[in-house]
Amino acid sequence: MSKQPLMPPFEKKVHLKDYDPAYTGSYEDESEVQEQLNKDLDRLRDLQEVLYAERKRTVLIVLQGIDTGGKDGTIGHVFRGLNPQGVEITAFKQPSAEELSHDFLWRVHHRVPPQGMIGVFNRSHYEDVLVVRVHDLVPKKVWKARYEIINHFEEMLVEQDVVILKFFLYISKDEQKERLQSRIDNPHKQWKFALGDLKERELWDDYVEAYEDMLTKCNTETAPWYIVPANHKWYRDLVVTRTIVEALDKLNLKYPKPVEGLENVVIPD
Ligand code: AMP
Ligand code: MG
Repeated sequence: MSKQPLMPPFEKKVHLKDYDPAYTGSYEDESEVQEQLNKDLDRLRDLQEVLYAERKRTVLIVLQGIDTGGKDGTIGHVFRGLNPQGVEITAFKQPSAEELSHDFLWRVHHRVPPQGMIGVFNRSHYEDVLVVRVHDLVPKKVWKARYEIINHFEEMLVEQDVVILKFFLYISKDEQKERLQSRIDNPHKQWKFALGDLKERELWDDYVEAYEDMLTKCNTETAPWYIVPANHKWYRDLVVTRTIVEALDKLNLKYPKPVEGLENVVIPD
């Protein structure tokens, strides 16, 4: 199979049918990526330490994907080795009455962590052009205007030294069926199953359309989207970890300079 791009080209309409959710690059199975993944996880831990010490940049990781797409699993696997003190994870649920009484970015902006931290969004402001659009929760005129508003918001964050990495975890409809079934069959996963998930599944095509628009209209050079083939969890984890490591590597992070005169400091007995 030909190489599948991770980043869709800018300014071009994204068609998800051009992307294979079962793609695994040059790898055949999990055993082939284990070593690389462990190396990347170690590297991520080292980079996080410098990010934290430097306290100049924020890294914001946005995870979106259809139900059972693997947002929770990705968080569990990719961030497991990090210093928990330097990571803030936020899961965005249905907005509360208070949240709804503000603009849609209010609750989101509030959860962008300070410099030195890695923020992880399990769902995000993109729900406001996804579930909200698919379910007509606001008039079309309102959600249509949001793509541009989101681009401006993200541009402003990037201006403030926030590095934004947006991952769309892409699974196939068949894979979702299997994952929903395994939630029903496995007593330890049943709590994750909601009858509403089947209603959402019926709206698959509407979601695809909404995702395609999100991936087209909000794919900017300042805050690009990555389309992660996510049918195979091991490939998904590899791609997400790799991408974060490469982005952090590019930042040229530095430990802050020590206080002056440190070489003359004597610790008293
Ligand atoms: P889960 O991630 O499975 O815990 O579910 C969270 C639910 O909250 C999902 O059904 C989302 O679609 C929903 N949700 C998240 N953000 C919004 C939003 N801005 N408006 C409406 N529903 C939302
Ligand atoms: Mg759910």
